[in-house]
Amino acid sequence: METPLTGGCFCGAIRYRITAPPFGQANCHCRACQRATGGAFAGVLLVPTEALEVAGEYREFTELGDSGNKVSRGFCPQCGSTLFARTTRIASMRPVYAATLDKPELFTPTLDAWVDFAQPWVTMDESLPKYRRDLPAECAGLPAPKNRRPRPVVGS
Ligand SMILES: [Zn+2]
Ligand SMILES: [Zn+2]
Repeated sequence: METPLTGGCFCGAIRYRITAPPFGQANCHCRACQRATGGAFAGVLLVPTEALEVAGEYREFTELGDSGNKVSRGFCPQCGSTLFARTTRIASMRPVYAATLDKPELFTPTLDAWVDFAQPWVTMDESLPKYRRDLPAECAGLPAPKNRRPRPVVGS
């Protein structure tokens, strides 16, 4: 993925720049993303923390994610767009909501996460790996656990 990537909120008060390629790109089906975006799921870029530069005063809403960890979602106080998040558990990575990119068509999801919470009215790309819950460690720039099963699969 070519960088820098740029994006921002609906009204333009908050702008951001992503200066390094994301660790991963995922469709997140967790309930928090559903609520925060009002959509069935959220396309997220998993960006190295130091590669996300933000201009403008955003606010955060913090709650417990489905992982049981605190997740703060950054939004524009003027127009309400949810732009990105951060979690206390993983400091190395920041999820950025792909639909807020200036060129959202650049987003190329490679997996579905939290599919245990997926809505029955969503049709997923069968060819993408499915994670019942959290994202794989690589998406946070962390090493994959040695004893992990080759490819997590959900139902069929
Ligand atoms: Zn705004
Ligand atoms: Zn999510």
